[in-house]
Amino acid sequence: MNRQQFENFTASSLYCEKCRAAMPVRERLLLVLPDREIFDYLCTECGLSVGRREITAGEKLMAQAMSGRTRREPASIRLQ
Ligand SMILES: [Zn+2]
Repeated sequence: MNRQQFENFTASSLYCEKCRAAMPVRERLLLVLPDREIFDYLCTECGLSVGRREITAGEKLMAQAMSGRTRREPASIRLQ
């Protein structure tokens, strides 16, 4: 369990500079924008922000599909 590809990772542990080790992290929703969501990853030990991730609407749909949560939402494409 050591896949840390930043484009496509489900963070469970990331390197924390303060703890100087790969620490389990907590995902926190930082910001919701119309076309993306930004998540912050915090070290569960010291609370330091150790990573950040942007998920676009498309990626989110893919992530949902891959995580097995098959909520059937119509693929609504909104042009704003
Ligand atoms: Zn830490």
